[in-house]
Amino acid sequence: MADFQLTNTAAPRARSGELAINGKSIDTPTYFPTLTRVTEPDQVTGTVQVLDEQGEPPLPNTGGFVVESHLAPDILGGIDRTAQTDLNGQRQFSNLYAVIDILEKCLFIDPNTDRLLYSNYRGQLDSIRDFLPDAFTTAVDALNGEEDVDLDISHGEAYPYIQDNVSRPNLVENMLNLQAEYDADLFLAPYYPIELDSYEHDIEENIELYRVTKSLADRLYDRPVAPVLPVKTSVIGADAEQENGQRQPPQAWLDIIHAYRNLDADILFLKATNVETDPDKLHKTDSEGIFHFFRQLRGFTDMPTFFLGLDEFSYILMARGLDGFSHPMYNSPYRKPMAPGDNVDHDNISHHRKFLVPRKWGWEKFDQLDSLGCNCPFCQPFNDTDPIDIEFGDQDRLRMRHWLWLRDEEIRELNDSITKDEVRPGLRSICNDSEWKKNFTMFL
Ligand SMILES: [Zn+2]
Repeated sequence: MADFQLTNTAAPRARSGELAINGKSIDTPTYFPTLTRVTEPDQVTGTVQVLDEQGEPPLPNTGGFVVESHLAPDILGGIDRTAQTDLNGQRQFSNLYAVIDILEKCLFIDPNTDRLLYSNYRGQLDSIRDFLPDAFTTAVDALNGEEDVDLDISHGEAYPYIQDNVSRPNLVENMLNLQAEYDADLFLAPYYPIELDSYEHDIEENIELYRVTKSLADRLYDRPVAPVLPVKTSVIGADAEQENGQRQPPQAWLDIIHAYRNLDADILFLKATNVETDPDKLHKTDSEGIFHFFRQLRGFTDMPTFFLGLDEFSYILMARGLDGFSHPMYNSPYRKPMAPGDNVDHDNISHHRKFLVPRKWGWEKFDQLDSLGCNCPFCQPFNDTDPIDIEFGDQDRLRMRHWLWLRDEEIRELNDSITKDEVRPGLRSICNDSEWKKNFTMFL
């Protein structure tokens, strides 16, 4: 079971608390770094190692790590978890698994099964075949065998195939096996996207997946299970409905929220799939829709709620009671892996290198920075250097380490401001720094 206790509240509805999962304690709000296809796990362990060598408790405000399911064997597999000290008795963080063990952080594995069908992962499928329902590998084999098939299939195309071909218990059992294999602290139920035009059916499908998962997990593993509610763009966009100038919550939102509230779960994970978080490409419906959807949800339930895959406006949601978020650390400039043989466009790469700017709760493009302006242990040696003059390899290592350190620091500052009831003025000043964030000040 997961147990949550409120410790402080602040206007407008921010809250801090203590969450216990599988015997581990997490102070909320919290940040869960997510390891995705662009993350190098060695960089994570390197960061923790450097922080640890300075005699500080490493990442005290980070609740744990989220690993995408298709990467779990690569990132967590083949590890001797007992090898945790060197000959001199010094702590060793040989890999992410050791970090999670030694720091007593939580481990979650995001069962985002659809990604396994993307052509990008065809090469990795063989190593995880044993954990997949047959139909996944059958589908990929079928795709591989047909030259005319467009291999970049979308969520929309993948799900009907899975729904038609994979029996529910089989899918659930395989996903539970994977999570149990790596000793996840809380099992996440597999989930299908909820689209606006089929939301009633999609809710039923997800609720049933959650029930089957919970029942199997109780019986086989005695481990708690959390539902995942995928907030797709089409659902978030339903927010556009307005009447007499007043924002009306769409019926779909109310139906979705009530269905999940009635699950009697200990924790809820919202998943922001396909919702743009790049401020340059941000649609108003995405950002404001997420905000209003979450505010609506908080109006009906106090259950601890975390967002998987949200970044730029997570702190606005935390002012309204979100308990934490997870987001990848962009140490690689690529948002998607490049295929072998692709031409590398160096201008494009440098354009995509992102740097978290201290006290702004958001990133800027590395090649547009005048200076790093950060006193973290990783940036300090470069503070007299023009960012553009830093070698790409050093940039990537720096950005990754800085990202992990700063997120932890930001969460600590947010927790402090909740204790002092200073969340609203603090966020107002941050929002006024940026054109797109100013939209949110009306909600604070
Ligand atoms: Zn820094």
